[in-house]
Amino acid sequence: MVERVIAIDGPAGSGKSTVARAVAVRLNLEYLDTGAMYRGVAYAVLQRGIDPTDTVAVGALARAVSLEVTQSRCLVDGEDASVSIRGSKVTQAVSAIAANPQVRVEMVTRQRAWIKELGGGVMEGRDIGSVVFPDAELKVYLTASSEVRARRRAAEVSELDLDEVAADIRRRDDADSSRAASPLVTADGALVLDTSELTVEGVVDVIVGILS
Ligand code: C5P
Repeated sequence: MVERVIAIDGPAGSGKSTVARAVAVRLNLEYLDTGAMYRGVAYAVLQRGIDPTDTVAVGALARAVSLEVTQSRCLVDGEDASVSIRGSKVTQAVSAIAANPQVRVEMVTRQRAWIKELGGGVMEGRDIGSVVFPDAELKVYLTASSEVRARRRAAEVSELDLDEVAADIRRRDDADSSRAASPLVTADGALVLDTSELTVEGVVDVIVGILS
C-alpha cells in the first residue's frame, strides 16, 4: 500500500496546527501534531525532576515514556497532560529537550510507525518534510510575519501578554533553527506559503488544490 503523507512544517504561530487539522479533515486522513510529542517528553522530564541538560537521562526517558497524542488530548504515561503541555513551564523547556539527538531519534521512529500503522496521514512539526518523510506526497512550509505569529499565539495562551509571547517565539525560533540535530529548515521541494495575509480556508484550499 502506498502511504499518503502530507508534511506541514513551520515556526511557532505559522498556523500549522489549524491548517494541518483542516487539511486532514478535507482529505479524510488522520492528523498528528509532533510538537505535542516533544512537549509530552518535556512534561515528563519536568515531572520527574530530571535535569533537562542530562542528555543521557532525557534520552532514556524519551525511549521509555508512553505518549498518546490524539486530536483532542495528550496522555503522558497515562496521565492527561493536554493542558500542562501548553503551559509556560513546558514551553520554556521544550526546545532544549527537542535539541537532544536521542529524543529526536525516538520521536522520529514513533512518527514513522504511526504513518505505517494508519497507512498515511497529515503530520505537522519542524522536520517532517526535511527528515521524517522527505518523500512525502506534499511538503508544505508555512510561515508568517513575526507580528502575526505573536498575535496568533497570544490569542491561544491567555496567561501571557503579547510581549511575552513575542519573546518566547523569538527564543524558540532561534533555538529550533540553530540546533545541530534536524534544525527548522525549508525542506527541498517544499511549497512555501506565507499565511500572514491568508485565511485558514485560503491556505487549505491551496494545499488541497495542489493534491487534487
Ligand atoms: O509545534 P509546537 O510549537 O507545539 O512545538 C513545540 C516545540 O517542539 C518546538 O519549539 C520545537 O522545539 C519542538 N519540535 C521539534 N520538531 C518537531 C515538532 C516540534 O523540534 N517536529
